[in-house]
Amino acid sequence: MGQYDKLPIIFLDRDGTIIVDKVYLNDPNEVEFIDGVIEGLKKLYLYGFKLVIVTNQSGISRGLVQLENLNLIHKKMVNVLKSFGIEIYRIYYCPHLPSDNCSCRKPKIGLVEELLDKIDVNNSFVIGDKDTDVLFGKNLGVKTVLIQQNRELQLSCKPDFISADFISAVNWILKNCNLHKNLNGI
Ligand SMILES: [Mg+2]
Ligand SMILES: [Zn+2]
Repeated sequence: MGQYDKLPIIFLDRDGTIIVDKVYLNDPNEVEFIDGVIEGLKKLYLYGFKLVIVTNQSGISRGLVQLENLNLIHKKMVNVLKSFGIEIYRIYYCPHLPSDNCSCRKPKIGLVEELLDKIDVNNSFVIGDKDTDVLFGKNLGVKTVLIQQNRELQLSCKPDFISADFISAVNWILKNCNLHKNLNGI
């Protein structure tokens, strides 16, 4: 696979980044996209990015979230976004507890193993709302955007950009990627 076959990917955290964090969400009817997210995802998708959701769901192992419901939640998200013309490329979740020490819970990168050799690292980004997401991006070798929603976070490493909301994150990414740059001069 040559460098031109690599994919520009936006790795999206789920809870608190694209949908409202309901804490161990277990009901598809409670899916609520955060303001500006659908508009932002549409921009990213039309620009050519692959949209990949990566989410820690320890509620599965805790018995608070049923796998069947998790699948319905993700199906609902995909269908709502599809109705806006947005395609989600992949959704990955880690069902384990932190104490399981699995290889897939963010900030580890085991969940996206099948994508590792396909990532265009210069044109791929993580968008998240937690330190874990920033570390996940560092571990992937891509740039990171932290959405900071009115709260102080203890950051163990610095994101490339701290954004007040999703749409500002998207606009920063569009300015800081190299996709389509060579088209400007034609
Ligand atoms: Mg989150
Ligand atoms: Zn895991």
